[in-house]
Amino acid sequence: MPTFYKKRRRGPSGPNKNEKKVMRRQPESSLRERFPGVTALRVEFHFLSPQNEPYEDVVRNFSPSDPCDFSAPCPGRCGNGHFDVTDAARALHQGGGDTAEENRVCREPAHTDPSVPCDFRLTCVLRLTR
Ligand SMILES: [Zn+2]
Repeated sequence: MPTFYKKRRRGPSGPNKNEKKVMRRQPESSLRERFPGVTALRVEFHFLSPQNEPYEDVVRNFSPSDPCDFSAPCPGRCGNGHFDVTDAARALHQGGGDTAEENRVCREPAHTDPSVPCDFRLTCVLRLTR
C-alpha cells in the first residue's frame, strides 16, 4: 500500500488579519458633527405590513452628542432588510425645513419565499430642532 504524503503548503502569512482589524468601519460621527446647528432630531419609524396595516412604531430621539445612526432593521419577512433614512435627514437639514416624511418599501426577498419581495413599508417622520 503506497502511502501518500501531503505536502503541507505554507501560504504566505501576510499581515492581513491585523490589517483588516484596523480597516474596521469607523464609528458614526455625532449629530453635532454631521448636522451643525441642530439641537435635537426625532426620527419616527412607522412600519406597515404589506397590506398597509400599522405593524410597529419605533421612535428615536437624537441629541447633539449621539452617533448618527438613522437606520432600523426591517421587521418584515426578509430577515435582513434595512431602512436607512440618513439621506432624508441630510436633505431636511440642507433644505432648511424642520419636518419631513419619507416613504420606503423593503425590496429584499422574503426568506419564506425568495421569489417574492418582503414588501414591508416604512413611513418615517423626521423632526429637526435647530
Ligand atoms: Zn423587509
